[in-house]
Amino acid sequence: MQFSGKRVLVTGASSGLGAHFAGLFAHLGAEVTAAARRTAALEALCAGIVAAGGRAHPCPMDVTRAEDIPAAFADGPFDIVINNAGLSLPGPAICYPEEEWDRTFDTNLKGAFLVAQAAGRALIEAGRSGSIVNVASILGLRVAGHVAAYASSKAALVQLTKSLALEWARHGIRVNALCPGYIQTPLNTAFFGTEEGRALIRRIPQRCLGRPEDLDGAVTLFAGDAGRYITGAVLAVDGGHLVSSL
Ligand code: NAD
Repeated sequence: MQFSGKRVLVTGASSGLGAHFAGLFAHLGAEVTAAARRTAALEALCAGIVAAGGRAHPCPMDVTRAEDIPAAFADGPFDIVINNAGLSLPGPAICYPEEEWDRTFDTNLKGAFLVAQAAGRALIEAGRSGSIVNVASILGLRVAGHVAAYASSKAALVQLTKSLALEWARHGIRVNALCPGYIQTPLNTAFFGTEEGRALIRRIPQRCLGRPEDLDGAVTLFAGDAGRYITGAVLAVDGGHLVSSL
């Protein structure tokens, strides 16, 4: 199998895309460490993966807490890290609360940096190569209303991706950014059933939402040997949303 013998860390694995990525890499033969804050959800996810014949371990981790991160690396470096933990707290910029700005950046940018830094250090100390995939967003490349903090944090994550790719290429560590468009997950299903949600879907050139599995090609390309000469790249998977008509 494509990822047999590989150790993969997925952050924010308790729901949505993170849970999907954990299942995907386990299905492709990897040993998956599923990290997030909600231990019960992680345990249920890992039990499901194991029942399906895969290998997965839960790892409690709040990516905004530097002290939570080293435990994940107790058994050595990860070959692949999917920096997926993230949150979106929408609201108009004019009255946006400082606390929500800080939470957004602490999770989407600082959290991704802390995990990548720990991953990079562990790989370099072990003299091994690896791949880090940062899950950014098309909102890191274009803007929409009421997402100033989220869009800014994801734009910064894209720049972080390129900076780490530059610094760590000499160590054989590749760092790339995946920029999903609107992907249907349990959290946003209700919104996309509303008139506002349907109007948004009509603005996507392919006229439909993405499904989590639509990201599989891009994430496995970045993570695996087929992507061995790809680093510092930014790939949108968005049904053409970034090229929608102005
Ligand atoms: P989600 O809310 O279902 O998943 C986010 C995960 O991150 C959850 O498991 C959550 O618990 C976890 N998380 C949040 N804060 C954390 C923290 N401090 N420490 C550890 N884990 C934390 O949403 P999702 O749609 O699955 O999003 C996953 C990633 O994909 C996010 O980075 C998001 O910005 C990005 N993204 C999603 C979409 C989409 O349409 N679903 C589009 C573009 C980008």
